[in-house]
Amino acid sequence: MRLKPFEFLNPSSLEDVFELLVRYGNEAKCLAGGTDLLVQMKQRRILPKRLINLLPLSELKGIHKAEDSLRIGALTRHVDLERSAFLEKGWNLLALAATKIGSPQIRHLGTIGGNLCNASPSADTAPPLLVLHATVCLSSLKGNRQIPLEAFLTGPGQTGLREDEILKEVILPKPPEGSLFTYLKLGRRKSMDLALVSVAVLVTINPERKTFEQVRLALGSVAPTPIRARAAEKQLGGNLIGEEAIREAAETAAQECQPMTDLRATAEYRREMVKVLVERAVKQSLGFPIPPTGI
Ligand SMILES: Cc1cc2nc3c(=O)[nH]c(=O)nc-3n(C[C@H](O)[C@H](O)[C@H](O)COP(=O)(O)OP(=O)(O)OC[C@H]3O[C@@H](n4cnc5c(N)ncnc54)[C@H](O)[C@@H]3O)c2cc1C
Repeated sequence: MRLKPFEFLNPSSLEDVFELLVRYGNEAKCLAGGTDLLVQMKQRRILPKRLINLLPLSELKGIHKAEDSLRIGALTRHVDLERSAFLEKGWNLLALAATKIGSPQIRHLGTIGGNLCNASPSADTAPPLLVLHATVCLSSLKGNRQIPLEAFLTGPGQTGLREDEILKEVILPKPPEGSLFTYLKLGRRKSMDLALVSVAVLVTINPERKTFEQVRLALGSVAPTPIRARAAEKQLGGNLIGEEAIREAAETAAQECQPMTDLRATAEYRREMVKVLVERAVKQSLGFPIPPTGI
C-alpha cells in the first residue's frame, strides 16, 4: 500500500521543531526512525498532513553518563543501546532488551524515543526502563519537564506528551549496587515478532542472610500499558530466597496483570505465561539452573 501525500518538514534546530508543533498542532507528527509511524500511515491508521523530521537534530542523539545518572537522547537507536559501553551493570538490562527488538534492520532505524512515544503495551524498552526507574524529559517552547516513565505511558498508543512537546531524553538513575537482572520475551518467533508477554526483573540480595532486598518486576503486553508487578515485588522483598517463594510471587504477578485476548494470544494463555516467565526470570537473574527454553 502506498503512503498518502504529506508535507516533509526539515527543521534545523529544536526551536524550529517546537515552532512547527505550535503552528501545525495535531496536523503534524514527529518522525524518528519511522518504523512505527510509516507503517501506521501506510495502513491509514493515522494520516498526518505533515511530518517533522527529527533525525538531523544531534541534540537528541547519544548516551551521556553523569556521576549518578545516564541520559539517553530520544533519537538513540536500539543498535546504539546494544553496543554502548555506558550501559554497564544494572543499566545493561536495557541493552539486553534492545537485542530482542525486531531484526538488525529495525534496530538500526528504530529509536528509544519512538518506542516509548508509540506507547505499545508490548514495547520492548518499556519494562526494563520501568524497573530502572526511568524518567522522561519532555521539551517544548515553554521549557523542559520531567515525569516518571510510569506516568508517561497512559494507555495503548497514549502518552502524557502534549501536542507542542517532544520527548527529548530518557534519564536513568544509578541502579542499586550488585543489581541482578534479566529480560525475557515470549513471542511466536524468536525475532521479528512483538512480545506476547515480556518480563523485566532487577533484584538485589543479601548473600549472608540469603534474602531478597530490592525486587523490581515489570510486565509487557499483559495490560493497557507496560506495568510494575508491585504485589509480587512486595511478596519477595525482604524474604528468604527459595523456589517456593519465587513460585508464589509468580502466581501473584499473574493475578495482578490484566491481559487481553487478541489475534496473537488469549488472555488465559498470557496470564499463564506471566506465571512461567516471572518464575523463570527471577531464577535466571539469581543464577539458578533452569532448563534451556529458547526464550
Ligand atoms: C518489522 C517490525 C518489527 C518490530 N519489532 C519490534 C519489537 O520486537 N519490539 C518493539 O518494541 N517494537 C518493534 N517494532 C516497532 C518499532 O520498530 C519500535 O517501536 C521503534 O522503537 C519505533 O521507533 P522509531 O524511531 O522508528 O519511531 P517512529 O516510527 O519514527 O515514531 C513512532 C511514534 O513516536 C513519535 N515520536 C518518535 N520520536 C519522538 C520524539 N522524540 N518525541 C515525540 N514523538 C516522537 C512519532 O510521531 C510516532 O507517533 C517493530 C516494527 C517493525 C516494522
